[in-house]
Amino acid sequence: MMADLLTIFNTARGLFPGTKRGLKTEFSDFKKKHKDWADCVELLEPAILREMNYKRMLRSQKVFCPEWPHFRTWLNQRRWEQEFPQIKKEKTAAGRRCPQCERYLDSTGRCFCGYSSEREF
Ligand SMILES: [Zn+2]
Repeated sequence: MMADLLTIFNTARGLFPGTKRGLKTEFSDFKKKHKDWADCVELLEPAILREMNYKRMLRSQKVFCPEWPHFRTWLNQRRWEQEFPQIKKEKTAAGRRCPQCERYLDSTGRCFCGYSSEREF
């Protein structure tokens, strides 16, 4: 049981892109800091993956993206519980349909029927 949790913890540690310390050091700090550590171990890896995706999205949209903290800090702050806001896609008419006739709008937000969504964005 303990060995399994250690392995799971180490997978998360290996995946974490920020600065990290050795497995035993990180694991013993983690256990000391959080009484519920055994319930949290399995949440680490998916949370790191979520955050990686989120950061990738920020960068791709040229939005400020904070650097990864030290793994110790990330763990101390229970950052695996973080929830990320939805990032709005750049406003564009692409893929939107005309509310009048249901045709796809062109890239400027105009429709063949004369409808224009310009004023909305
Ligand atoms: Zn139309």
